[in-house]
Amino acid sequence: MKKYTHAWLAFMAIKRLEETKLSDTDRRYANNLITWFKSHKDSVIQGAWYPDSVIKDMANSHVLKLTPSDDAANKFKRLPSTYLNYQYGKKTALWKKSFTVDKDDNLPDRCESIAHSVIDNLKMQESEDKGSPVSPTDNQIALLLFMLSHYVSDAHMPFHCDSRRFSAGMNLHAQIEAKWENIIRRYYQIDDANARFFYDPAGYPLRAKGTHIDHEYQSSLLKAVDDALRDRRFSIGWGGKNNNVWDFMSAICQYSYLLSYRFIPEPYDHTNVTSANWQSLGSISFDDFSVAVLSDAIDSTARVWFRVWRKYMKWERKARAKKKK
Ligand SMILES: [Zn+2]
Repeated sequence: MKKYTHAWLAFMAIKRLEETKLSDTDRRYANNLITWFKSHKDSVIQGAWYPDSVIKDMANSHVLKLTPSDDAANKFKRLPSTYLNYQYGKKTALWKKSFTVDKDDNLPDRCESIAHSVIDNLKMQESEDKGSPVSPTDNQIALLLFMLSHYVSDAHMPFHCDSRRFSAGMNLHAQIEAKWENIIRRYYQIDDANARFFYDPAGYPLRAKGTHIDHEYQSSLLKAVDDALRDRRFSIGWGGKNNNVWDFMSAICQYSYLLSYRFIPEPYDHTNVTSANWQSLGSISFDDFSVAVLSDAIDSTARVWFRVWRKYMKWERKARAKKKK
């Protein structure tokens, strides 16, 4: 995914947390994160793009590539039933088969480790006195949080989880990502000189104005994503027996892989997918494919961020109670 797509997904994850129903306690945790996010939102574009622009660990850490296999022992995990990639994936023939995982790929590990880093840094900041040389700054923590959203979102791009080489041939991978980026640029106002979105009064990316564009937006992919999320229950749990960020992200990669095959079935690969046929090969339209990718990515980023933040806040509450004693 590209720069503004990553940033937009991050904003929409926070919006999802703001709009979804939560228990009173969870609402307090979520609101704390939302307020914190909003005071750092100018850095989202740079931060959520950092893994591509500076870290550049694309070959192994932005991917977890799966290959169908009859001999492997890997089994599919479960996801919350609200996931579109899960619903589509379970209807593919490959769901009944096993798979192998490219041994050098480590996207779920990357997500787990950054999630730990965010919590560690928050704890260090809370424990250190002001001015302490080992105390991390808010900006450093924000950067980690935004980087985390990048890796979480990348797992939702089906071609990051499929060992077929869709960056070769007509480069369908880049073409699709460019389409998403263009749609976001079309329907939102972007301050290119400062590489950030303009904001609406609530602090979210400002939509492009005008009767014509507004009318067009109503039938756009982004409106469909918005609708899909509005009707979708937010579950805090990781789904199935998943117990942490790693389990959850591994499951996401598995269903991303299945979604890839649902859109581009066997025997297609980079050698026979063309700019003329790519939209008509699978049993799912490009729009449905895109709605699944983008809305699931928003849901996952919201969940991972919320769980990370809640874990820290629970620790903080205990630490404070201890200090008082
Ligand atoms: Zn990436």
